[in-house]
Amino acid sequence: MTAAALIVLAVAAWIAVLYVSPFGPCFRCRGRGTTRKGRRVIVCPRCHGRRRVQRTGSRTVHRLARRIRAEAAPIRAERAASAGRKD
Ligand SMILES: [Zn+2]
Repeated sequence: MTAAALIVLAVAAWIAVLYVSPFGPCFRCRGRGTTRKGRRVIVCPRCHGRRRVQRTGSRTVHRLARRIRAEAAPIRAERAASAGRKD
């Protein structure tokens, strides 16, 4: 397998991860929800205590998937209608 094929495979795998799991643990607080500011413990400013953050690119992947599904819907409906006719 060439290096280019490996890169393509890795990108495809990352897109699949973004689609299946669009949220990941917050890297700022390491999933704790709180972080330290000097000696004080504060709510994490990155995730606001939610402990998870949206992965970069997951919004784009989901938007694209929704667009593809929306464009394929009339074609699929037409196919289903012609299959049911039987003439
Ligand atoms: Zn956080």
